[in-house]
Amino acid sequence: MEARSSKSQPIVIPRPAHNVSRADISPNAVKVLYRLRDAGHRACLVGGGVRDLLLGREPKDFDIATDARPEQVHALFRNCRLIGRRFRLAHVQFGQEIIEVATFRACGEIGDEGDGPAVERTKDGRILSDNVYGSIEDDAWRRDFTINALYYDIADFAVLDYVGGMTDLEAGLIRLIGDPGERYHEDPVRMLRAVRFAAKLGFRLDPATEAPLHRLGHLLEQIPPARLFDEILKLFMSGSAIQTFELLRHYRLFGWLFPATERCLNRQQHHYPKTLLVHALANTDQRLAEGKPVHPAFLFAALLWEPFRERLQHLEAEGLDAHEAQQAAAEAVVQAQIRHASLPRRYSLPMREIWEMQQRLTCITGKRPLRLLVHPRFRAAYDFLLLRGEADESARELADWWTRLLAQDENGRNRMTQTATPAKKSKSRRRRKPRSARKDASAAPPAPEA
Ligand code: ATP
Ligand code: MG
Repeated sequence: MEARSSKSQPIVIPRPAHNVSRADISPNAVKVLYRLRDAGHRACLVGGGVRDLLLGREPKDFDIATDARPEQVHALFRNCRLIGRRFRLAHVQFGQEIIEVATFRACGEIGDEGDGPAVERTKDGRILSDNVYGSIEDDAWRRDFTINALYYDIADFAVLDYVGGMTDLEAGLIRLIGDPGERYHEDPVRMLRAVRFAAKLGFRLDPATEAPLHRLGHLLEQIPPARLFDEILKLFMSGSAIQTFELLRHYRLFGWLFPATERCLNRQQHHYPKTLLVHALANTDQRLAEGKPVHPAFLFAALLWEPFRERLQHLEAEGLDAHEAQQAAAEAVVQAQIRHASLPRRYSLPMREIWEMQQRLTCITGKRPLRLLVHPRFRAAYDFLLLRGEADESARELADWWTRLLAQDENGRNRMTQTATPAKKSKSRRRRKPRSARKDASAAPPAPEA
């Protein structure tokens, strides 16, 4: 951690000099702040809530920091649960909304001021649990980025800045507090957070914060798969998925989240599958911008499609029948992926259904296509086919056929399914490459996922 004077004075931005207004804070968060203050505690809004309000953006959630201990917070609110081992927190629940209340913490090294259970670290410096309580200054210095360490104090409505966050906010800079290498080792997820905030806010990374990213991706291997999964959702569901994806690839972080997909991207032919992925991410961003729901299963179906497709081809070439090959390919891809980041079954099952339906969508004669129309997963599978169509011409023909079918009345649908010529198998729907390029591709056969 960067040297600092033991008692630094914050820059105080008084209420008239900033734009954080109680009217823009969730009424439940305001209630929690007042209740803590009235019980004699220090209470501040902190983190993304303050950052986003200062930027005139709508915060995703409101986090509160206080000098009250978790048990004291618990005693103040009926609707409160204490959670977390690595990081003990109070959750105050109001219907759907949860207000997170954290006690001011110190960085382990500060020691003499901190109390409570000690900071646990691994040999290489990764923090396992972080429950050393401290002062508000300590709390500011142990946060990740300067723009995330601004406090809105409910006592006088001033914003407090201990780490230069206001200047960075105005300059559009993501800057880690302290020594970047050390802070990434302490918690490698900060690398993903740096990228996420840069993409979401359209900020630049400060050069010292940026430099270690290219070479520290491997640290993500130490992160429990469940935490990586949460982080992946935040990365790709925050409305700037394309930008996030480009940055993750640029800093060579993407491969630590989706190794099989990264391998496919690296031997990419004709900009495919990148094209499919980019279309899927654009689609996600657009739906979120329009306030429409996005199902993570759809996103994962796109992110892992290419490893699945390659594996499927490989198994079919080995002589497995279509159904067996589908099952085995999907299983192999899921098993390989969950070694890195979890993929709960509530997402992996619908994802696999979307994949499996791609084959069924090639049956366009007789009664089968009409039955498929009422399948609960039809819409997602059809949307996925449209997406493939953006990147692959023969999938586009099939997608167009389904689009025309959907536009027909019952008679028209019957006519179409009686006159359709069966679609070619997915294998032959791959783009043909010129002879010269084919030679090239055969030199590096796609290694199926283990
Ligand atoms: P958003 O909620 O918009 O994703 P946020 O900055 O509020 O962004 P949270 O994950 O809600 O992010 O965390 C709240 C605050 O907790 C952060 O702003 C930061 O101050 C602190 N924080 C979160 N994760 C870390 C971390 N890994 N290391 C240090 N501080 C962290
Ligand atoms: Mg937040």
